[in-house]
Order: sequence, then structure tokens, then C-alpha cells
Amino acid sequence: MPFAPRPGRPFAPAGRVPPVLDRLGRPARDLRISVTDRCNFRCTYCMPKEIFGPDFAFLPRSEVLTFEEIRQLAEAFVELGVEKLRVTGGEPLVRRDLPVLVGMLAELRTPAGDAVDLTLTTNGSALRRLAGPLAAAGLGRVTVSLDSLDDDVFRAMNGVDFPVARVLDGVAAAREAGLAPIKVNMVVKRDVNEASILPMARWARDEDVILRCIEYMDVGHANGWRLDDVVPAAEIVAAIDAELPLEAMPANYPGEVATRWRYRDGAGEVGVIASVTRPFCGDCTRARVSAEGRLYTCLFTGDGHDLRAPLRDGTAGADLVALLAGIWGRRDDRYSELRTEATTALPRIEMYAMGG
Ligand code: SAM
Ligand code: SF4
Ligand code: SF4
Repeated sequence: MPFAPRPGRPFAPAGRVPPVLDRLGRPARDLRISVTDRCNFRCTYCMPKEIFGPDFAFLPRSEVLTFEEIRQLAEAFVELGVEKLRVTGGEPLVRRDLPVLVGMLAELRTPAGDAVDLTLTTNGSALRRLAGPLAAAGLGRVTVSLDSLDDDVFRAMNGVDFPVARVLDGVAAAREAGLAPIKVNMVVKRDVNEASILPMARWARDEDVILRCIEYMDVGHANGWRLDDVVPAAEIVAAIDAELPLEAMPANYPGEVATRWRYRDGAGEVGVIASVTRPFCGDCTRARVSAEGRLYTCLFTGDGHDLRAPLRDGTAGADLVALLAGIWGRRDDRYSELRTEATTALPRIEMYAMGG
């Protein structure tokens, strides 16, 4: 596979100052900020309850970035060229006073003076309570993770017997609060929720939400990932297309990870994220900061760069931007394109710690 931004889709539109590029020519466009490593779910593919039991040691509060530290970091990334901020976790809605942080992030402006695209990924369990306050604080939209409409399948996959009806009510609350367009992430696992693909696609069309089917990924080691458990994106698309005919759509922007399809009858779209079978490292413009303030330049990395220590030592403003630019400039990650049995065994950070 050629390793370069796809031709015909330049990263820097004409007239704009070119952003800091990594060693493979990719700018930092998206920042995912994990606000907690804790979660009220124990999804089998992310935080299996056998490993993340009652005695599991999550980060002590003093090691988690404060709202002000998160704001400072986000501001420096926006200075560097980031236009899209996604708040994530763990489960971001378990972080106390999250709307306060959202309000602080919503005030950020790009060097061109534009508001940032501010969004959040959640398991939806607390949206009935928090969708309104988050929207009022300036959140633009929301992505809800939901793996099945079948209550038994969903309860088993989330690991804590959480009923699907409450997540559906959370989606409704997000809509009522104006957090649209709503996206729904569905991780597809072989022989677990394959039968849920079509019902989810039909529901998403009816509810006017954008379904994103995600190939089960080998992030971290806790989930015991095996290639046999992956349902390839092509198979997911074929299953939907057989019942609800699809046609391919162009990407919204360089770096969009989902391959998009629209229904031929005009009723909505569906996306597939094929990070295992169709790697997209060439367009990967994502930076991730963990709850403890480590910067990860790839989802599959074993190590991050500590930003908390410099922040707490007073590094700020232009010095902080320079620090981030230096790290980004040295980035050469492309794990998914190099994935082999040998790389799969290398040490890697867990998804819940990095935010997905
Ligand atoms: N707790 C929130 C949630 O579930 O939406 C945010 C954090 S979660 C780590 C972010 C996303 O990562 C979710 O959509 C989840 O389904 C996805 N995810 C977690 N583990 C995964 C895996 N092994 N493969 C693919 N996606 C995964
Ligand atoms: Fe929690 Fe999200 Fe991981 Fe599920 S995917 S265990 S909801 S962090
Ligand atoms: Fe980006 Fe790493 Fe995923 Fe490649 S493997 S798309 S570099 S996060």
C-alpha cells in the first residue's frame, strides 16, 4: 500500500499556514482526550470483568489531569493545528462536573478564529441526566457506543448486565438536547453480535443516527483478541447491502477513518471502520492524551510521552506548543499497516486507558 496522504485531498487547503507534519507528512488534526480511566461498564472487548475486577487499581485522583491542565493541553494542540476535540475515557460521563470541562473546551478558537469541533464518545448510560447540561455547556455532538439492540446480547457484551433500553433512552436524550448528528459505534465480534448488524442498521435508519460498524481491534492485551473474532468490514457491508442496497460515498475530510456508504433509497448512511483489514495509517491525523496526561501518537503503541510533568513544572504557552510540535514531528507510527503476529505480541496500552 502506498504510504502517503491520498492524492487529490491535500491536508492544507490553499491559503492556510501549513501545519506541523510528522515524519510521514501527516498533520495533527484530531485530539482525543481521555478524562478518566474509570468506567461503569466492563465490555468484553475492552475491560473484561475477569481482569478489571473490584480490586483493579485505577489512577489515583492526583495522577489524573485537572480540567485546567486539560484545557491548557487542548489549547496548545489547537495552536498546533488540531480542529477536532473528542472527549473520551474510560467512560467520560463518570468524571465529575464534566460539563464544566466541556464549557472550557468550547471556548477554544483555532488560529483562524473558528470554534473547534467538540464532540464526545460515551456508552450512553448517563446521557439522560447529562445530555442537556453538556449541550448547554457547548458540546456539539455525541457518539454513543451500542453493540446490539438485543437486550441479552447487549447485557452480555457490556459485562455489567446493563439494559439496552437505558442506552436507547440516552440516545433519545441526546437528540432532545440537540447533540446531532448522533453517531453510534458498534464493535462487531464474530459469533457474538453479528446477527445484530442488520437490526442495528434498520434502527439507525429509522432513528436518523449514523451507524459506524467497527472491526474488533487488537488494542491492548486484556481482551484476548484473535483474528478469528474479527468480522471483516467487507463482510459487514455485504450483509447490509444484501438487504438494504448501498453505494460508496466519498470521505468527508482527509483522515476520516470510516469508509462511508449511503443507502440507495436515500435514507441515511452507514460507515465501517476497517482498522484491521484496511489500515488507514497514511491518513492518520489523531493524537491521544490519556487521563494521566500521556500523549500517544498511535492507538497501538506501548509507550506514551509524559505531558503531566512538564505541565506541572510550569511549561505553558509557546513552550508547550513547541514541546508538542517536537513530539509530533518525530512521529512515524503506522502499526496497522505493519501488523503481523510478531507485532501483535508487542507491549501495548489498553483501549480504556487511551480512549479509543
Ligand atoms: N466508554 C466510552 C464508550 O464506550 O463509548 C468511550 C471510551 S471507549 C474505549 C471508545 C470506543 O472504543 C468505543 O466505541 C468502543 O466500542 C471502542 N472499543 C473499545 N475496545 C475496542 C476494541 N477492542 N476494538 C474496537 N473498538 C473498541
Ligand atoms: Fe467502558 Fe467504553 Fe471500554 Fe465499554 S468500551 S468498557 S464503555 S470504556
Ligand atoms: Fe493511526 Fe496507529 Fe491506527 Fe495507524 S495504527 S491508523 S498510525 S492509530
